[in-house]
Amino acid sequence: MIVDIHTHLFPPRFIAERVSLAASDEAFGEMYADPKAKMATAEDLLASMERARVDVSVACGFWWRDPALAAEHAAYLVDVARASSGRILAFVPTREAMEGAAGIGEVRERTPEGVPASTLPVLLHSTEETGHAYAGKEGGLTPGALGRLLEARPEARIIAAHWGGGFPFAAVVPEVRSRLAGRVLFDSAASAYLYAPDIFRLVIDITGLDSVAWGSDFPLRPQTVDRAYVEAALPDEVERAAVLGGNAARFLGLG
Ligand SMILES: [Zn+2]
Repeated sequence: MIVDIHTHLFPPRFIAERVSLAASDEAFGEMYADPKAKMATAEDLLASMERARVDVSVACGFWWRDPALAAEHAAYLVDVARASSGRILAFVPTREAMEGAAGIGEVRERTPEGVPASTLPVLLHSTEETGHAYAGKEGGLTPGALGRLLEARPEARIIAAHWGGGFPFAAVVPEVRSRLAGRVLFDSAASAYLYAPDIFRLVIDITGLDSVAWGSDFPLRPQTVDRAYVEAALPDEVERAAVLGGNAARFLGLG
C-alpha cells in the first residue's frame, strides 16, 4: 500500500477567494498571497494519486485563526474523504475533531501548550532552528518544543512534519528514543527543499525504520516527482516499502 501522509486541500471557494483570505489571515497570506503558490481541491489530489499510483493520501487543512474558516475547511475535508472510498483521509484544522475526521492538522503552533490534545493522530508543522528561511517556516514547533510535547503527553500520537525540524537527531539519546516508539512518525514533507537526500538514511539509522513516513506536501510537490525522489534515496526494497506506505498504514490503522 502506498500512502502519502502529508497533502493539503482547500475548498474551491477558498481558492477562488484567496486574495481576500490572504489579507485576513497573516499566516495564510505569507504562504498563499503569491498566485504561484499552488492550491488544490480533492479532484486535483485524486488525479495526482492516479498518476503517482498512490492508494491513500492524508489531506490536511490550514490552521486558520478564524474558527468559522476552520470549520468550513474541516467540513470540506470530511465530505471529500467520505466520497473517496477510503482514498482520502481528513486531517481537520480544528481543536476538536468532528465526526469523520481521521486526525487533526496541519497544526501550526509555536508552543506545546497550543497543540490540541486529541485521541486522534495530530500532524504538526515543525521547524528547523537553523537552516534557510521560507514562506511558512515560522509558526511550528522547533525540536526543543516538540521534545517537551512528547514528554508532557505520553499518550499523544504525533506526525512530526518536515522531519520534525531535525528532532530525530535527539533520538540518539536512549530516553528520547524510547519516547518515540510506536506513536511518532517523522514525515518527509518538502524534504527536497529543506534537506539533503541523505536525511532518509540518517533518520532511519537513528530512529529505526518504523518512525519514517513519506509525505509529499502536495501540491507544493507533485506526488510523481516526490515519490521518485524517495525511491532514489532508498534503493532497498524493504525500507522503501515501509517509508512509502507500510509505516503510515500501521500508524493510521489502515487495512
Ligand atoms: Zn508543514
